[in-house]
Amino acid sequence: MPFHVSADEFERIAGEALNSIPEPLRARMDADNLMITVRSDTGGGDADEEGVDQHVLGYFEGGGESTFSAFGYPKRIVLMQQHIERWCRTRAELVAQVTDTVLHEVAHYFGMSHDDMRTTRLRR
Ligand SMILES: [Zn+2]
Repeated sequence: MPFHVSADEFERIAGEALNSIPEPLRARMDADNLMITVRSDTGGGDADEEGVDQHVLGYFEGGGESTFSAFGYPKRIVLMQQHIERWCRTRAELVAQVTDTVLHEVAHYFGMSHDDMRTTRLRR
């Protein structure tokens, strides 16, 4: 059984995960206007309407390369609430999974590849 929480509660847990990131890194993320977005609208099927596989718990949108705007698109980390909840049976598991996912995507934001992450605590 998935462990389900409200969207507000999920965002609060994601906020706590962000708070666990060391201040110098967070300052850079803030300066860059990095956003965290929670998608709680995905239901059923093997992939949702935008084709995001259920095994994808979150992703990082790098923004940047727009030919039309000097500012590019905002960079953001998207958390797939229902996908994450699917793998969790308790609140503690949910908090751990959200934290892992946020840290994983933040690592992508800082330019780390999965190979880079393998050498750190940020698996997956
Ligand atoms: Zn990744």
